[in-house]
Amino acid sequence: MSLSSEDASLCERCKLLSFDDLAIGGQKVVDEDGSLRLSFKDTKTEVRPEYDEGYQDLHDYTLIRVGWLLDDILPDMPNLSHSSQLGCAFCSALHRELKEELVQDMRYYTIHDGPLTLIVYLSLVEKGVEGLLVEGTFNQEKGRYGVVQTFFPIEAAPRTDPAFDNCEKWIGAEPARETSYLGPKNISEMRRLLESCTKSCHPWEPSSFLPTRLIDIGIDSSAVPRLIFSSDIRQCEQAKYAALSYCWGTAEDAKTQFKTERGSLERRYENLPYELMTSAINDTIALTRAIGLRYVWVDAICIVQDDTDDWLRDSSQMNLVYRHAFVAFCGLNSNSCHESLLQRAPTIKVLFQSNIRQNINGHYLVRLRPRSGDWVDRKRLDYWCKWRERAWTFQEEELYSRLLLFGSSKMHFHCGTSEWSEGQDNITRSHSSKTLDHITGINQSKMSASNLYDTWLFRVHDYCGRSLTLEKDRLPAISGLACMIW
Ligand SMILES: [Zn+2]
Ligand SMILES: [Zn+2]
Repeated sequence: MSLSSEDASLCERCKLLSFDDLAIGGQKVVDEDGSLRLSFKDTKTEVRPEYDEGYQDLHDYTLIRVGWLLDDILPDMPNLSHSSQLGCAFCSALHRELKEELVQDMRYYTIHDGPLTLIVYLSLVEKGVEGLLVEGTFNQEKGRYGVVQTFFPIEAAPRTDPAFDNCEKWIGAEPARETSYLGPKNISEMRRLLESCTKSCHPWEPSSFLPTRLIDIGIDSSAVPRLIFSSDIRQCEQAKYAALSYCWGTAEDAKTQFKTERGSLERRYENLPYELMTSAINDTIALTRAIGLRYVWVDAICIVQDDTDDWLRDSSQMNLVYRHAFVAFCGLNSNSCHESLLQRAPTIKVLFQSNIRQNINGHYLVRLRPRSGDWVDRKRLDYWCKWRERAWTFQEEELYSRLLLFGSSKMHFHCGTSEWSEGQDNITRSHSSKTLDHITGINQSKMSASNLYDTWLFRVHDYCGRSLTLEKDRLPAISGLACMIW
């Protein structure tokens, strides 16, 4: 095992994340293009414990222990907390993630205080090393045990780094992501995905519906955005607009949100100064510009917040706003209007030295805080993210035409029948998962009225667990969808 003192941000235990490819059962295989790659295909080393055996063939990944094990105590996990206080970046991220995960789980069942055993597994997919799965097991009632999991993706070292090495190909990790979602690679992906959707699955259909007001960002980057009346746009039905789906945050965040009120309405028609707008809104304008649209809808600016008539009229047609938006942007991991939508989680550098091929050495990256952001990874973990915990986003998720989602590690695209996540070569086509599509397609589908009713109940159950800044919004936030269904 190769360890170096450079890796000072990791505790002794976490240095085991720099896994020994030989010791854990790896072997050399020749790839189609003649290059050599690490494989664990016939590994005899310890894989995940037997309690999961029944489900093993449902997975498209293999989990191998890397030797990292920690016995701790619930609920506070003092051992993890101690090593995080001593400065281990991985222990610190893990401690925070597990605490959040356990709080989520406590909404569904009781978690008793007591021993917790944590184990790190290397998660392998066909292409190679995918990430680290951390699993904690603890005693539950009547001899049953509970499980808590979190996942940290592995990326190769960035190619722009002078220390770029030969590990990427050997371990088969996905390439390092661009720091900002507004990097050239991400922008061209966004454009490609939207184009592919409008060409192959959801052709753009001009609609006579436009929200009452929109933000006009102008036609070039020097233009100053301003609020407009949609009825002032010539050829209204040709106007494509984007929409923002996000969380305002706490009552305090909501107070300091940049918004339109009766007293500021006239000024908003003149201009919207970047320096006064909150991070989420500035990011939305930048994204709109990046994908080549001119108009965007943001509730805080387009609805006059202290005008009851305005608010009631526009919030009741929110379902139409999202349904007719060309695309909606969602910051999966952002918790407040003051947080950027476009911030990826930080990474830690883990050194790597192959013991199968001595000339392979360098490092790879472990992306921290990924769980809460990785929407499409729900097949892997019971996923939760801040955006999905909010009541308002429930109908937005059901109604959108196209969604671009920005997680803490990856960008995702979803349009009901196509799904894509960063790092994936091709778009995945599937049947629509939206309740509304099941309903409109009920005559063609095999879904009976009682199945449909069960689906609706299930969705309402999901909705009831979501949080709201203002409890009075509980019915308005689902009424748009209900109107379209019943
Ligand atoms: Zn550590
Ligand atoms: Zn589509």
